[in-house]
Amino acid sequence: MVLSRPLVNLLLLLSLCYWSFYVFYSKVIVVDYNERSALVIIDIQVDFCSDGVLAVEGGEEIIPGINTLLERDQKDKNKLFYKTIATADWHPPGHISFASSHGLEPYSIKTINGSKTTLWPDHCIEETGGAEFFPTLNIGKADLLIRKGRSRNMDSYSAFFENDRKTPTGLAGYLENHRISNVYFCGLAFDWCVYFSAMDALTLGFSTFVLKDLTRSVNIPPGYADVKEKEMADEGVKIVKVNYL
Ligand SMILES: [Zn+2]
Repeated sequence: MVLSRPLVNLLLLLSLCYWSFYVFYSKVIVVDYNERSALVIIDIQVDFCSDGVLAVEGGEEIIPGINTLLERDQKDKNKLFYKTIATADWHPPGHISFASSHGLEPYSIKTINGSKTTLWPDHCIEETGGAEFFPTLNIGKADLLIRKGRSRNMDSYSAFFENDRKTPTGLAGYLENHRISNVYFCGLAFDWCVYFSAMDALTLGFSTFVLKDLTRSVNIPPGYADVKEKEMADEGVKIVKVNYL
């Protein structure tokens, strides 16, 4: 079949329009996807702040800075964080992570489910005051709350998985459903639940940031937090300050 010159020109024009349309819209979708960020606030609870049974030194000092981030996005059309999520440690009495459940002293080391772990004072027991979010945290501004460590025989340091490294909390699905690609962490404690959450976020393919000045560390033994920070940085977690935003 021989095509006339005008018909060839028309087909070329239609082809050009199609590709322009495709490239433009695929670019828009990609840009939109890449720009979506979430803030994950880890375990700002009474037991982890001053006078709590497992107080992280200076724990409540980070709350005003976190509130500023939460409140800023209520007014701004160009939200910095598309979604904000807060997690809470929420254990049944007699939880496997408690030293008292094993007749041992807090901070003893014991092998549980095949891996050595630190045993803690009884903390964040479900439906007690110690498990509540610290009262000055403006938790009403968060989009999603996740309670973790609810199984008596399984702890959950990470916001994504229980410590069997298989049972999901649902956070990954939530972030993926909202097409979020960048995840920023703050909260308590830097060297435990923030560390495990950030490492899992990275493994799951999120671009992962820790807002270090909006965290505090347990740091037992001394120097432990520095080791965890190096591990995160070496793997590709970006450790930044809040003024990075
Ligand atoms: Zn716990």
